[in-house]
Amino acid sequence: MKKCLVCEKGNLGKVGDITLDLEGYVSLLKGERCDNCKEEFPYEEETERAISAARKLGVWPEPMKLHRHLSKSGGGLIFRVPSDIEKQLNLDESTEIEITKIGKKIVIEPVNT
Ligand SMILES: [Zn+2]
Repeated sequence: MKKCLVCEKGNLGKVGDITLDLEGYVSLLKGERCDNCKEEFPYEEETERAISAARKLGVWPEPMKLHRHLSKSGGGLIFRVPSDIEKQLNLDESTEIEITKIGKKIVIEPVNT
């Protein structure tokens, strides 16, 4: 029996009912579960299989990287949100956003109200 890496007390037993929730797409994975702390360790290839299946269904999209130019209006710079991102995140003109500067990156997050 393999010892659990988390609690270092329990033994890992083979299970086939580890649930993995990817944005609402739930898969059952095979893996091991600790009989003491109940920590689950899905097999790596199982996790990858579930993620690639979710990607095919479009529920786990690849990170999007788009190139855009800023435009100038009324003395300020305007950033237009690409329409695919607008649709995916359900943005509209009433969406409140948070802008975070991290080094040279600008992160724009919709605020859930
Ligand atoms: Zn454990």
